[in-house]
Amino acid sequence: MNYKTIYLRRGKDESLKRFHPWVFSGAIEHADEALDEGDIVRVLDAGGQFAGLGHYQIGSIAVRILSFTERDIDESFWLELLQAALDVRRSIGVADRKDNNTYRLVHGEGDNLPGLVIDMYGGTAVMQAHSVGMHLCRMQLAEALKKMMGPRLTAIYYKSETTLPYKASLGQENGFIFGTSETDVAQENGLLFHIDWLKGQKTGFFVDQRDNRSLLEHYSMGRDVLNMFCYTGGFSVYALRGGARKVHSVDSSAKAVELVNANVSLNFPEDERHQAFAEDAFKFMDQMGKDAYDLIILDPPAFAKHKDALKNALRGYTKLNAKAFEKIRPGGILFTFSCSQAVNKDQFRLAVFTAAAMARRRVRILHQLHQPADHPINIYHPEGEYLKGLVLYVE
Ligand code: SAH
Repeated sequence: MNYKTIYLRRGKDESLKRFHPWVFSGAIEHADEALDEGDIVRVLDAGGQFAGLGHYQIGSIAVRILSFTERDIDESFWLELLQAALDVRRSIGVADRKDNNTYRLVHGEGDNLPGLVIDMYGGTAVMQAHSVGMHLCRMQLAEALKKMMGPRLTAIYYKSETTLPYKASLGQENGFIFGTSETDVAQENGLLFHIDWLKGQKTGFFVDQRDNRSLLEHYSMGRDVLNMFCYTGGFSVYALRGGARKVHSVDSSAKAVELVNANVSLNFPEDERHQAFAEDAFKFMDQMGKDAYDLIILDPPAFAKHKDALKNALRGYTKLNAKAFEKIRPGGILFTFSCSQAVNKDQFRLAVFTAAAMARRRVRILHQLHQPADHPINIYHPEGEYLKGLVLYVE
């Protein structure tokens, strides 16, 4: 196929040679013809040699590389990459399991498909485009996905209203582009969850905390648990199964509180150990009694969406964690997370360390947590590492 061509500036083609999948706008010398957003472009290095094929978009990340070899980007190309992604999920044991039908099938750059996310909830695939190019390819992707999954796939819900730059001409939309879902209930490690793919955050569920929720379950026996920023209540439901004495779930969104209550009822109907509160996290922690909880989860939204918000974000993490350290019962366990891509592991650890010192508690690190294997990190794209967590023993 004939693709438009982009020429890179001298000295600006190094990262592509190391297989980094992004071309920044400042690296582009010129293009051979006018570019439209979402175009598939051929990228040539400063010496005029082929360097990659990718999706073009206006913005700081100008090209997201799809292939480092010259080939057609068509349905069979998508099928090959989707199949590779599914093979990984099978080999790590999250796909085709009896007690688990919730997993991330495609994790953007981590699966060499920058700009694309696909989460599986039973027979429903929720597909999200984060680039104009993937948006334009959505029907081709849907066809490839159908071919690969066969009768196991009953529906594809396309959810890109909030993940694409707003442009009236794009026609971004949320809706089924194939079939309809028979149920909104999916299973994770034997537990059931309503997935709100129509209106929920991300693809309707935070699939990325699955392993960390499992670990929490093991620490829950007999404990008084506080799940801050609970959203759909993933951690709460695992804590209940793990034998917690009581579980309190807190989220500032009333909708989240409805969701957590629905999910607890789905698994443990009439269970009086659980209570949910629609309340601001900081306010709740200011007002709660000292020693009321001995297992606290802090899983806030990304405090820093961009690098320039970093300082404030770190302050936010310190403030939040300090409140937990002040109040947690001696011998308590704190699960604390950051999902900000702009905050790295060391910065997060320093923010939590500062909080512990402020509260003058003796603290041990028991586990260092991260995103699960179905959210893989492309080794050439370290930016893909976003979720980090610490499990701490607070004396
Ligand atoms: N722990 C969840 C995901 C958390 S997402 C899970 O495992 O699924 C972050 C949540 O924090 C959102 O539901 C959002 O409504 C909530 N939130 C944001 N700001 C808040 C605040 N100041 N106080 C309490 N909750 C807040």
